[in-house]
Amino acid sequence: MGSNILTVIYVLASVTFILGLKLLSSPATARRGNLIAASGMILAILGTIFLYEDEGVRLHNHIWIFGGLLIGGVAGAVAARKVKMTAMPEMVSLFNGMGGACAALISIVEFNRLAHDPRGWVSFPPISALGDAASVLSQSAGELVIIFAGLIIGSISFAGSVIAWGKLNGRIKDYAFKGQHWVNLSLFGLILVVAGWVIVSMSAPPSIDPSELKSLVDWNVVLPRLGPDLVQMRILFYLVFAMAVVYGILFVLPIGGADMPVVISLLNSFTGVAAACGGFLYDNKAMLTGGILVGAAGTLLTILMCRAMNRSLKNVLVGSFGGGAVAGQGGQKEQGNYREISVSDAAMLMSYAHKVMIVPGYGLAVAQAQHVCHELEKLLTEKGVEVKYAIHPVAGRMPGHMNVLLAEADVSYDHLLELEQANEEFPTTDVVIVLGANDVVNPAAKNDPSSPIYGMPILDVELAKTCIVNKRSMKPGYAGIENELFFRPKTSMLFGDAKKALQELIAEIKNL
Ligand code: NDP
Repeated sequence: MGSNILTVIYVLASVTFILGLKLLSSPATARRGNLIAASGMILAILGTIFLYEDEGVRLHNHIWIFGGLLIGGVAGAVAARKVKMTAMPEMVSLFNGMGGACAALISIVEFNRLAHDPRGWVSFPPISALGDAASVLSQSAGELVIIFAGLIIGSISFAGSVIAWGKLNGRIKDYAFKGQHWVNLSLFGLILVVAGWVIVSMSAPPSIDPSELKSLVDWNVVLPRLGPDLVQMRILFYLVFAMAVVYGILFVLPIGGADMPVVISLLNSFTGVAAACGGFLYDNKAMLTGGILVGAAGTLLTILMCRAMNRSLKNVLVGSFGGGAVAGQGGQKEQGNYREISVSDAAMLMSYAHKVMIVPGYGLAVAQAQHVCHELEKLLTEKGVEVKYAIHPVAGRMPGHMNVLLAEADVSYDHLLELEQANEEFPTTDVVIVLGANDVVNPAAKNDPSSPIYGMPILDVELAKTCIVNKRSMKPGYAGIENELFFRPKTSMLFGDAKKALQELIAEIKNL
Protein backbone atom coordinates (compact mmCIF):
# COMPACT_ATOMS: atom_id res chain seq x y z
CA MET A 1 0.00 0.00 0.00
CA GLY A 2 2.76 2.40 1.13
CA SER A 3 4.77 1.67 -2.01
CA ASN A 4 1.75 2.39 -4.24
CA ILE A 5 1.21 5.75 -2.56
CA LEU A 6 4.92 6.43 -2.94
CA THR A 7 4.75 5.68 -6.67
CA VAL A 8 1.84 8.13 -7.03
CA ILE A 9 3.86 10.73 -5.07
CA TYR A 10 6.86 10.25 -7.36
CA VAL A 11 4.70 10.61 -10.47
CA LEU A 12 3.12 13.78 -9.01
CA ALA A 13 6.56 15.17 -8.15
CA SER A 14 7.78 14.45 -11.68
CA VAL A 15 4.78 16.31 -13.10
CA THR A 16 5.58 19.35 -10.91
CA PHE A 17 9.21 19.29 -12.16
CA ILE A 18 8.08 19.35 -15.79
CA LEU A 19 5.49 22.05 -15.11
CA GLY A 20 8.04 24.08 -13.14
CA LEU A 21 10.54 23.89 -15.96
CA LYS A 22 7.91 25.00 -18.46
CA LEU A 23 6.95 28.01 -16.31
CA LEU A 24 10.62 28.90 -15.80
CA SER A 25 10.88 29.73 -19.49
CA SER A 26 9.25 33.15 -19.01
CA PRO A 27 10.26 35.73 -16.36
CA ALA A 28 6.56 36.42 -15.77
CA THR A 29 5.86 32.85 -14.57
CA ALA A 30 9.34 31.79 -13.39
CA ARG A 31 8.71 32.44 -9.68
CA ARG A 32 5.54 30.32 -9.73
CA GLY A 33 7.34 27.57 -11.64
CA ASN A 34 10.10 27.48 -9.07
CA LEU A 35 7.63 27.19 -6.18
CA ILE A 36 5.63 24.43 -7.89
CA ALA A 37 8.74 22.34 -8.60
CA ALA A 38 10.06 22.94 -5.07
CA SER A 39 6.79 21.72 -3.51
CA GLY A 40 6.99 18.60 -5.68
CA MET A 41 10.51 17.99 -4.40
CA ILE A 42 9.42 18.43 -0.75
CA LEU A 43 6.59 15.94 -1.34
CA ALA A 44 9.03 13.41 -2.87
CA ILE A 45 11.50 13.81 0.02
CA LEU A 46 8.83 13.38 2.71
CA GLY A 47 7.30 10.45 0.82
CA THR A 48 10.70 8.72 0.67
CA ILE A 49 11.39 9.32 4.36
CA PHE A 50 8.04 8.03 5.62
CA LEU A 51 6.88 5.53 3.00
CA TYR A 52 9.97 3.98 1.39
CA GLU A 53 10.40 0.32 2.30
CA ASP A 54 13.23 -2.09 1.63
CA GLU A 55 12.34 -5.68 2.44
CA GLY A 56 9.69 -4.47 4.85
CA VAL A 57 12.01 -2.06 6.65
CA ARG A 58 11.33 1.70 6.56
CA LEU A 59 13.87 4.48 7.04
CA HIS A 60 14.19 4.88 10.78
CA ASN A 61 17.20 7.11 11.52
CA HIS A 62 14.99 10.20 11.43
CA ILE A 63 17.21 12.29 13.68
CA TRP A 64 20.10 12.02 11.23
CA ILE A 65 17.86 12.64 8.24
CA PHE A 66 16.03 15.66 9.63
CA GLY A 67 19.24 16.99 11.23
CA GLY A 68 20.89 16.95 7.78
CA LEU A 69 17.82 18.48 6.13
CA LEU A 70 17.72 21.25 8.71
CA ILE A 71 21.42 22.13 8.40
CA GLY A 72 21.33 22.04 4.58
CA GLY A 73 17.99 23.87 4.39
CA VAL A 74 19.06 26.69 6.71
CA ALA A 75 22.47 27.09 5.03
CA GLY A 76 20.84 27.14 1.57
CA ALA A 77 18.08 29.58 2.55
CA VAL A 78 20.48 32.01 4.28
CA ALA A 79 22.94 31.89 1.35
CA ALA A 80 20.16 32.43 -1.20
CA ARG A 81 18.66 35.35 0.75
CA LYS A 82 21.99 37.08 1.31
CA VAL A 83 23.54 36.61 -2.11
CA LYS A 84 23.87 39.68 -4.29
CA MET A 85 22.40 39.42 -7.77
CA THR A 86 25.91 39.80 -9.23
CA ALA A 87 27.20 36.86 -7.19
CA MET A 88 24.39 34.52 -8.30
CA PRO A 89 26.51 32.52 -10.78
CA GLU A 90 29.03 31.75 -8.04
CA MET A 91 26.27 30.46 -5.82
CA VAL A 92 24.71 28.45 -8.63
CA SER A 93 28.13 26.92 -9.28
CA LEU A 94 28.63 26.01 -5.65
CA PHE A 95 25.14 24.52 -5.24
CA ASN A 96 25.64 22.60 -8.46
CA GLY A 97 28.94 21.28 -7.10
CA MET A 98 27.12 20.04 -3.98
CA GLY A 99 24.71 18.10 -6.21
CA GLY A 100 27.65 16.47 -8.00
CA ALA A 101 29.27 15.61 -4.67
CA CYS A 102 26.05 13.97 -3.43
CA ALA A 103 25.82 11.85 -6.58
CA ALA A 104 29.46 10.77 -6.16
CA LEU A 105 28.81 9.93 -2.47
CA ILE A 106 25.85 7.75 -3.44
CA SER A 107 28.15 5.83 -5.80
CA ILE A 108 30.79 5.44 -3.07
CA VAL A 109 28.24 4.07 -0.58
CA GLU A 110 26.72 1.72 -3.14
CA PHE A 111 30.08 0.44 -4.36
CA ASN A 112 31.17 -0.35 -0.84
CA ARG A 113 27.95 -2.27 -0.33
CA LEU A 114 28.68 -4.38 -3.43
CA ALA A 115 32.34 -4.75 -2.57
CA HIS A 116 31.56 -6.21 0.83
CA ASP A 117 33.59 -9.38 0.73
CA PRO A 118 31.84 -12.40 2.17
CA ARG A 119 35.22 -14.14 2.24
CA GLY A 120 36.23 -11.77 5.01
CA TRP A 121 33.47 -12.97 7.35
CA VAL A 122 35.70 -15.56 9.00
CA SER A 123 39.19 -16.67 8.23
CA PHE A 124 38.17 -20.28 7.62
CA PRO A 125 34.63 -20.16 6.32
CA PRO A 126 32.67 -23.35 6.41
CA ILE A 127 32.79 -24.84 2.94
CA SER A 128 28.97 -24.46 2.69
CA ALA A 129 29.33 -20.65 2.80
CA LEU A 130 31.47 -20.66 -0.31
CA GLY A 131 28.52 -21.30 -2.61
CA ASP A 132 26.87 -18.11 -1.33
CA ALA A 133 30.14 -16.25 -1.58
CA ALA A 134 30.53 -17.22 -5.21
CA SER A 135 27.08 -15.94 -6.10
CA VAL A 136 27.46 -12.73 -4.05
CA LEU A 137 30.81 -11.99 -5.62
CA SER A 138 29.57 -11.78 -9.18
CA GLN A 139 27.87 -8.40 -9.45
CA SER A 140 25.51 -7.02 -12.03
CA ALA A 141 27.48 -5.22 -14.73
CA GLY A 142 24.58 -2.79 -15.25
CA GLU A 143 24.60 -1.71 -11.61
CA LEU A 144 28.38 -1.27 -11.67
CA VAL A 145 28.19 0.82 -14.84
CA ILE A 146 25.64 3.13 -13.18
CA ILE A 147 27.72 3.36 -10.00
CA PHE A 148 30.82 4.34 -11.98
CA ALA A 149 28.88 6.76 -14.19
CA GLY A 150 27.52 8.50 -11.06
CA LEU A 151 30.97 8.55 -9.49
CA ILE A 152 32.81 9.90 -12.53
CA ILE A 153 30.22 12.46 -13.68
CA GLY A 154 29.42 13.58 -10.12
CA SER A 155 33.10 14.03 -9.19
CA ILE A 156 33.88 15.95 -12.38
CA SER A 157 30.88 18.16 -11.75
CA PHE A 158 31.85 18.72 -8.11
CA ALA A 159 35.51 19.57 -8.76
CA GLY A 160 34.72 21.61 -11.87
CA SER A 161 32.00 23.60 -10.11
CA VAL A 162 34.26 24.44 -7.19
CA ILE A 163 36.90 25.72 -9.63
CA ALA A 164 34.23 27.68 -11.55
CA TRP A 165 33.08 29.19 -8.24
CA GLY A 166 36.66 30.23 -7.39
CA LYS A 167 37.19 31.70 -10.84
CA LEU A 168 33.97 33.66 -10.85
CA ASN A 169 34.79 35.31 -7.55
CA GLY A 170 38.41 35.91 -8.54
CA ARG A 171 40.02 33.53 -6.01
CA ILE A 172 41.34 31.21 -8.71
CA LYS A 173 43.17 32.44 -11.78
CA ASP A 174 43.05 30.89 -15.24
CA TYR A 175 45.76 28.32 -15.73
CA ALA A 176 46.74 26.40 -18.84
CA PHE A 177 49.85 24.53 -19.94
CA LYS A 178 51.07 23.29 -23.27
CA GLY A 179 49.50 20.04 -24.37
CA GLN A 180 46.69 20.30 -21.84
CA HIS A 181 44.18 18.88 -24.34
CA TRP A 182 46.18 15.70 -24.55
CA VAL A 183 46.67 15.41 -20.82
CA ASN A 184 42.93 15.90 -20.33
CA LEU A 185 42.01 13.39 -23.01
CA SER A 186 44.52 10.80 -21.77
CA LEU A 187 43.33 11.21 -18.20
CA PHE A 188 39.74 10.75 -19.29
CA GLY A 189 40.73 7.67 -21.29
CA LEU A 190 42.54 6.24 -18.27
CA ILE A 191 39.48 6.84 -16.06
CA LEU A 192 37.33 4.84 -18.51
CA VAL A 193 39.89 2.02 -18.80
CA VAL A 194 40.29 1.57 -15.02
CA ALA A 195 36.53 1.80 -14.45
CA GLY A 196 35.95 -0.70 -17.26
CA TRP A 197 38.52 -3.07 -15.75
CA VAL A 198 36.80 -3.03 -12.35
CA ILE A 199 33.36 -3.50 -13.91
CA VAL A 200 34.50 -6.47 -16.02
CA SER A 201 36.39 -8.06 -13.12
CA MET A 202 33.57 -7.72 -10.65
CA SER A 203 30.81 -8.83 -12.97
CA ALA A 204 32.61 -11.88 -14.37
CA PRO A 205 30.98 -15.11 -13.21
CA PRO A 206 33.08 -17.08 -10.69
CA SER A 207 35.25 -19.64 -12.42
CA ILE A 208 34.21 -22.27 -9.96
CA ASP A 209 31.19 -24.45 -9.84
CA PRO A 210 29.59 -24.74 -6.37
CA SER A 211 29.46 -28.54 -6.80
CA GLU A 212 33.20 -28.51 -7.38
CA LEU A 213 33.73 -26.72 -4.08
CA LYS A 214 33.29 -29.80 -1.97
CA SER A 215 36.25 -31.46 -3.61
CA LEU A 216 38.51 -28.45 -3.07
CA VAL A 217 40.08 -28.19 0.33
CA ASP A 218 42.92 -25.75 -0.22
CA TRP A 219 41.51 -22.32 0.61
CA ASN A 220 44.26 -20.54 -1.33
CA VAL A 221 43.26 -22.34 -4.52
CA VAL A 222 39.57 -21.60 -4.02
CA LEU A 223 39.92 -17.91 -3.18
CA PRO A 224 41.04 -16.41 -6.53
CA ARG A 225 38.54 -18.53 -8.44
CA LEU A 226 35.61 -17.08 -6.49
CA GLY A 227 36.10 -13.58 -7.84
CA PRO A 228 38.47 -10.62 -7.91
CA ASP A 229 40.38 -9.35 -4.90
CA LEU A 230 37.93 -6.81 -3.52
CA VAL A 231 40.59 -4.82 -1.68
CA GLN A 232 42.27 -4.28 -5.03
CA MET A 233 38.91 -3.39 -6.60
CA ARG A 234 38.28 -0.78 -3.90
CA ILE A 235 41.69 0.79 -4.43
CA LEU A 236 40.99 1.04 -8.16
CA PHE A 237 37.55 2.50 -7.43
CA TYR A 238 39.04 5.28 -5.30
CA LEU A 239 41.71 5.81 -7.96
CA VAL A 240 38.92 6.45 -10.50
CA PHE A 241 37.34 8.86 -8.00
CA ALA A 242 40.63 10.78 -7.53
CA MET A 243 41.31 10.89 -11.29
CA ALA A 244 37.78 12.21 -11.97
CA VAL A 245 38.32 14.98 -9.40
CA VAL A 246 41.64 15.91 -11.05
CA TYR A 247 39.98 15.81 -14.48
CA GLY A 248 37.22 18.15 -13.24
CA ILE A 249 39.88 20.61 -12.05
CA LEU A 250 41.97 20.42 -15.23
CA PHE A 251 38.86 20.67 -17.37
CA VAL A 252 37.71 24.01 -15.94
CA LEU A 253 41.06 25.64 -14.98
CA PRO A 254 42.04 26.92 -18.44
CA ILE A 255 38.56 28.17 -19.32
CA GLY A 256 37.87 31.78 -18.59
CA GLY A 257 36.97 35.10 -20.06
CA ALA A 258 33.82 35.08 -22.04
CA ASP A 259 33.41 31.30 -22.01
CA MET A 260 32.49 30.67 -18.39
CA PRO A 261 28.69 30.55 -18.79
CA VAL A 262 28.91 27.58 -21.14
CA VAL A 263 30.96 25.65 -18.62
CA ILE A 264 28.60 26.38 -15.75
CA SER A 265 25.62 25.23 -17.74
CA LEU A 266 27.49 22.10 -18.90
CA LEU A 267 28.48 21.21 -15.32
CA ASN A 268 24.86 21.71 -14.37
CA SER A 269 23.80 19.12 -16.92
CA PHE A 270 26.52 16.75 -15.63
CA THR A 271 25.04 16.96 -12.14
CA GLY A 272 21.60 16.16 -13.55
CA VAL A 273 22.91 13.02 -15.25
CA ALA A 274 24.81 11.99 -12.10
CA ALA A 275 21.63 12.42 -10.01
CA ALA A 276 19.70 10.34 -12.56
CA CYS A 277 22.25 7.53 -11.96
CA GLY A 278 21.28 7.70 -8.26
CA GLY A 279 17.62 7.41 -9.33
CA PHE A 280 18.46 4.23 -11.27
CA LEU A 281 20.35 2.71 -8.35
CA TYR A 282 17.55 3.31 -5.86
CA ASP A 283 14.76 2.77 -8.37
CA ASN A 284 13.51 6.21 -7.37
CA LYS A 285 11.34 7.63 -10.15
CA ALA A 286 11.31 11.21 -8.88
CA MET A 287 15.10 11.31 -8.63
CA LEU A 288 15.36 9.78 -12.07
CA THR A 289 12.97 12.24 -13.73
CA GLY A 290 14.47 15.20 -11.84
CA GLY A 291 17.99 14.20 -12.86
CA ILE A 292 17.05 13.59 -16.48
CA LEU A 293 15.24 16.94 -16.68
CA VAL A 294 18.21 18.81 -15.22
CA GLY A 295 20.56 16.93 -17.53
CA ALA A 296 18.44 17.60 -20.62
CA ALA A 297 17.69 21.25 -19.76
CA GLY A 298 21.37 21.86 -18.96
CA THR A 299 22.45 20.26 -22.23
CA LEU A 300 19.99 22.35 -24.25
CA LEU A 301 21.09 25.50 -22.45
CA THR A 302 24.73 24.59 -23.12
CA ILE A 303 24.02 24.19 -26.82
CA LEU A 304 22.11 27.49 -26.94
CA MET A 305 24.90 29.29 -25.06
CA CYS A 306 27.52 27.75 -27.37
CA ARG A 307 25.56 29.11 -30.31
CA ALA A 308 25.17 32.51 -28.62
CA MET A 309 28.93 32.67 -28.05
CA ASN A 310 29.90 30.87 -31.23
CA ARG A 311 31.89 28.19 -29.39
CA SER A 312 31.92 24.53 -30.26
CA LEU A 313 30.85 22.01 -27.65
CA LYS A 314 33.80 19.81 -28.59
CA ASN A 315 36.17 22.49 -27.36
CA VAL A 316 34.26 22.76 -24.11
CA LEU A 317 34.59 19.03 -23.52
CA VAL A 318 38.36 18.97 -23.76
CA GLY A 319 38.68 22.18 -21.79
CA SER A 320 40.29 24.20 -24.49
CA PHE A 321 38.62 27.56 -24.97
CA GLY A 322 40.49 30.51 -26.21
CA GLY A 323 38.95 32.54 -23.36
CA GLY A 324 40.53 33.41 -20.08
CA ALA A 325 43.90 31.77 -20.38
CA VAL A 326 44.67 33.99 -23.28
CA ALA A 327 42.36 36.85 -22.43
CA GLY A 328 44.05 40.15 -22.81
CA GLN A 329 46.25 39.03 -25.66
CA GLY A 330 43.92 40.10 -28.42
CA GLY A 331 42.32 43.45 -29.12
CA GLN A 332 45.01 45.46 -27.39
CA LYS A 333 46.03 47.70 -30.24
CA GLU A 334 46.35 51.47 -29.97
CA GLN A 335 42.83 52.90 -30.24
CA GLY A 336 43.23 56.68 -30.35
CA ASN A 337 41.01 59.13 -28.48
CA TYR A 338 37.53 58.80 -27.11
CA ARG A 339 34.86 61.47 -26.76
CA GLU A 340 33.00 62.35 -23.56
CA ILE A 341 29.43 63.58 -23.34
CA SER A 342 27.85 65.62 -20.56
CA VAL A 343 24.69 64.53 -18.77
CA SER A 344 22.75 67.48 -20.19
CA ASP A 345 23.78 66.70 -23.78
CA ALA A 346 22.90 63.04 -23.30
CA ALA A 347 19.52 64.03 -21.82
CA MET A 348 18.85 66.31 -24.77
CA LEU A 349 19.74 63.63 -27.33
CA MET A 350 17.49 61.08 -25.71
CA SER A 351 14.52 63.40 -25.15
CA TYR A 352 14.37 64.43 -28.79
CA ALA A 353 14.92 60.96 -30.21
CA HIS A 354 12.19 58.86 -31.84
CA LYS A 355 13.63 55.61 -30.68
CA VAL A 356 16.04 54.83 -27.82
CA MET A 357 17.55 51.41 -27.19
CA ILE A 358 18.89 50.57 -23.73
CA VAL A 359 21.69 47.97 -23.63
CA PRO A 360 22.04 46.69 -20.06
CA GLY A 361 25.17 44.86 -18.92
CA TYR A 362 26.97 43.62 -15.86
CA GLY A 363 27.64 47.20 -14.60
CA LEU A 364 23.89 47.85 -14.37
CA ALA A 365 23.58 44.85 -12.06
CA VAL A 366 26.56 45.98 -9.95
CA ALA A 367 25.08 49.45 -9.58
CA GLN A 368 21.62 47.98 -8.84
CA ALA A 369 20.31 50.53 -11.30
CA GLN A 370 17.44 48.48 -12.74
CA HIS A 371 14.70 50.49 -10.98
CA VAL A 372 16.14 53.87 -12.05
CA CYS A 373 16.54 52.46 -15.53
CA HIS A 374 12.84 51.61 -15.62
CA GLU A 375 12.08 55.13 -14.40
CA LEU A 376 14.07 56.58 -17.30
CA GLU A 377 12.17 54.35 -19.71
CA LYS A 378 8.81 55.54 -18.35
CA LEU A 379 9.87 59.18 -18.48
CA LEU A 380 11.03 58.94 -22.08
CA THR A 381 7.89 57.02 -23.07
CA GLU A 382 5.76 59.81 -21.57
CA LYS A 383 7.65 62.21 -23.83
CA GLY A 384 6.66 60.11 -26.84
CA VAL A 385 9.99 58.32 -27.30
CA GLU A 386 9.86 54.63 -28.22
CA VAL A 387 12.09 52.80 -25.71
CA LYS A 388 13.28 49.20 -25.97
CA TYR A 389 15.92 47.03 -24.29
CA ALA A 390 18.49 45.00 -26.24
CA ILE A 391 19.31 41.85 -24.28
CA HIS A 392 22.46 39.87 -25.07
CA PRO A 393 22.19 36.22 -23.98
CA VAL A 394 25.37 36.41 -21.89
CA ALA A 395 25.15 39.99 -20.65
CA GLY A 396 25.85 40.04 -16.92
CA ARG A 397 27.21 37.01 -15.15
CA MET A 398 24.62 34.28 -15.62
CA PRO A 399 22.26 33.12 -18.33
CA GLY A 400 19.16 35.31 -18.23
CA HIS A 401 20.79 37.75 -15.78
CA MET A 402 19.41 40.86 -17.48
CA ASN A 403 15.91 39.42 -17.86
CA VAL A 404 15.79 38.60 -14.15
CA LEU A 405 17.16 42.01 -13.21
CA LEU A 406 14.71 43.94 -15.36
CA ALA A 407 11.78 41.75 -14.33
CA GLU A 408 12.64 42.65 -10.73
CA ALA A 409 12.12 46.32 -11.69
CA ASP A 410 8.79 45.51 -13.41
CA VAL A 411 10.07 46.29 -16.89
CA SER A 412 7.49 44.91 -19.32
CA TYR A 413 8.65 41.75 -21.05
CA ASP A 414 7.32 43.12 -24.36
CA HIS A 415 10.01 45.78 -24.35
CA LEU A 416 12.87 43.28 -24.23
CA LEU A 417 14.46 42.38 -27.56
CA GLU A 418 16.66 39.37 -28.10
CA LEU A 419 20.01 39.73 -29.85
CA GLU A 420 18.77 39.09 -33.41
CA GLN A 421 15.69 41.28 -33.05
CA ALA A 422 17.75 44.10 -31.52
CA ASN A 423 20.33 43.92 -34.30
CA GLU A 424 17.52 44.29 -36.82
CA GLU A 425 16.24 47.39 -35.02
CA PHE A 426 19.53 49.24 -34.43
CA PRO A 427 19.61 50.85 -37.92
CA THR A 428 16.29 52.59 -37.14
CA THR A 429 17.39 53.61 -33.62
CA ASP A 430 18.41 57.20 -32.89
CA VAL A 431 20.18 56.72 -29.56
CA VAL A 432 21.64 53.61 -27.98
CA ILE A 433 22.55 53.91 -24.32
CA VAL A 434 24.91 51.18 -23.12
CA LEU A 435 24.64 50.81 -19.35
CA GLY A 436 27.57 48.97 -17.82
CA ALA A 437 27.96 46.58 -20.77
CA ASN A 438 31.29 46.03 -22.47
CA ASP A 439 32.15 42.63 -23.98
CA VAL A 440 28.67 42.15 -25.43
CA VAL A 441 29.06 45.29 -27.57
CA ASN A 442 32.73 44.82 -28.49
CA PRO A 443 33.16 44.88 -32.31
CA ALA A 444 36.43 42.93 -31.92
CA ALA A 445 34.23 39.83 -31.65
CA LYS A 446 33.40 40.40 -35.33
CA ASN A 447 36.55 41.79 -36.84
CA ASP A 448 39.61 40.80 -34.79
CA PRO A 449 40.49 37.10 -35.13
CA SER A 450 43.19 37.50 -32.47
CA SER A 451 40.62 38.59 -29.88
CA PRO A 452 39.64 36.04 -27.22
CA ILE A 453 35.98 36.85 -27.84
CA TYR A 454 36.27 36.53 -31.63
CA GLY A 455 33.22 34.75 -32.99
CA MET A 456 30.84 35.69 -30.20
CA PRO A 457 27.73 37.36 -31.68
CA ILE A 458 27.44 40.92 -30.35
CA LEU A 459 24.88 43.68 -30.23
CA ASP A 460 25.61 45.88 -33.26
CA VAL A 461 25.07 49.16 -31.42
CA GLU A 462 27.19 50.95 -34.01
CA LEU A 463 24.37 50.63 -36.52
CA ALA A 464 22.34 53.21 -34.56
CA LYS A 465 22.76 56.95 -35.21
CA THR A 466 24.41 57.67 -31.87
CA CYS A 467 25.80 55.52 -29.09
CA ILE A 468 26.26 56.67 -25.50
CA VAL A 469 28.30 54.34 -23.27
CA ASN A 470 27.97 54.64 -19.53
CA LYS A 471 30.65 53.08 -17.32
CA ARG A 472 32.95 54.35 -14.61
CA SER A 473 36.27 54.31 -16.47
CA MET A 474 38.00 52.96 -19.56
CA LYS A 475 38.73 49.68 -17.78
CA PRO A 476 37.95 46.45 -19.65
CA GLY A 477 35.05 44.10 -18.89
CA TYR A 478 35.00 40.40 -18.01
CA ALA A 479 37.13 39.18 -20.93
CA GLY A 480 39.86 41.65 -19.98
CA ILE A 481 40.14 43.30 -23.38
CA GLU A 482 39.87 46.85 -24.66
CA ASN A 483 36.76 47.85 -26.58
CA GLU A 484 37.24 49.67 -29.87
CA LEU A 485 33.60 50.78 -29.80
CA PHE A 486 34.53 53.43 -27.23
CA PHE A 487 36.88 55.07 -29.76
CA ARG A 488 34.51 55.05 -32.73
CA PRO A 489 33.20 58.41 -34.07
CA LYS A 490 29.54 57.71 -33.27
CA THR A 491 30.32 56.82 -29.63
CA SER A 492 30.47 59.15 -26.62
CA MET A 493 31.38 58.13 -23.09
CA LEU A 494 29.22 59.10 -20.12
CA PHE A 495 31.42 58.28 -17.15
CA GLY A 496 30.06 57.45 -13.70
CA ASP A 497 28.23 54.83 -11.69
CA ALA A 498 25.21 53.62 -13.69
CA LYS A 499 22.67 54.40 -10.96
CA LYS A 500 24.03 57.89 -10.34
CA ALA A 501 24.31 58.65 -14.05
CA LEU A 502 20.73 57.53 -14.64
CA GLN A 503 19.44 59.60 -11.72
CA GLU A 504 21.19 62.67 -13.14
CA LEU A 505 19.83 61.94 -16.61
CA ILE A 506 16.30 61.68 -15.24
CA ALA A 507 16.67 65.00 -13.39
CA GLU A 508 17.96 66.69 -16.56
CA ILE A 509 15.20 65.28 -18.77
CA LYS A 510 12.57 66.45 -16.29
CA ASN A 511 14.02 69.97 -16.52
CA LEU A 512 13.90 70.09 -20.30
P1 NDP B 1 31.38 43.18 -18.97
O1 NDP B 1 31.86 42.42 -17.80
O2 NDP B 1 32.04 42.95 -20.26
O3 NDP B 1 31.51 44.75 -18.68
C1 NDP B 1 30.86 45.34 -17.60
C2 NDP B 1 31.29 46.77 -17.53
O4 NDP B 1 30.51 47.38 -16.52
C3 NDP B 1 32.75 46.94 -17.13
O5 NDP B 1 33.54 47.31 -18.23
C4 NDP B 1 32.71 48.02 -16.04
O6 NDP B 1 33.53 49.13 -16.45
C5 NDP B 1 31.25 48.44 -16.00
N1 NDP B 1 30.79 48.69 -14.64
C6 NDP B 1 31.09 48.02 -13.52
N2 NDP B 1 30.47 48.55 -12.47
C7 NDP B 1 29.76 49.59 -12.94
C8 NDP B 1 28.92 50.55 -12.32
N3 NDP B 1 28.67 50.55 -11.00
N4 NDP B 1 28.34 51.49 -13.10
C9 NDP B 1 28.58 51.53 -14.44
N5 NDP B 1 29.38 50.65 -15.07
C10 NDP B 1 29.96 49.69 -14.32
O7 NDP B 1 29.82 42.97 -19.03
P2 NDP B 1 28.85 42.52 -20.22
O8 NDP B 1 27.51 42.40 -19.58
O9 NDP B 1 29.03 43.38 -21.41
O10 NDP B 1 29.38 41.11 -20.65
C11 NDP B 1 29.27 39.99 -19.81
C12 NDP B 1 30.57 39.24 -19.79
O11 NDP B 1 30.52 38.31 -18.74
C13 NDP B 1 30.79 38.47 -21.07
O12 NDP B 1 32.16 38.43 -21.36
C14 NDP B 1 30.25 37.09 -20.70
O13 NDP B 1 30.77 36.06 -21.48
C15 NDP B 1 30.73 37.00 -19.27
N6 NDP B 1 29.98 36.06 -18.44
C16 NDP B 1 28.65 35.92 -18.63
C17 NDP B 1 27.96 35.01 -17.89
C18 NDP B 1 26.52 34.83 -18.19
O14 NDP B 1 26.03 33.71 -18.05
N7 NDP B 1 25.81 35.88 -18.55
C19 NDP B 1 28.61 34.20 -16.83
C20 NDP B 1 30.02 34.50 -16.65
C21 NDP B 1 30.66 35.40 -17.46
P3 NDP B 1 34.10 50.14 -15.35
O15 NDP B 1 34.88 49.32 -14.40
O16 NDP B 1 34.91 51.09 -16.14
O17 NDP B 1 32.90 50.79 -14.72
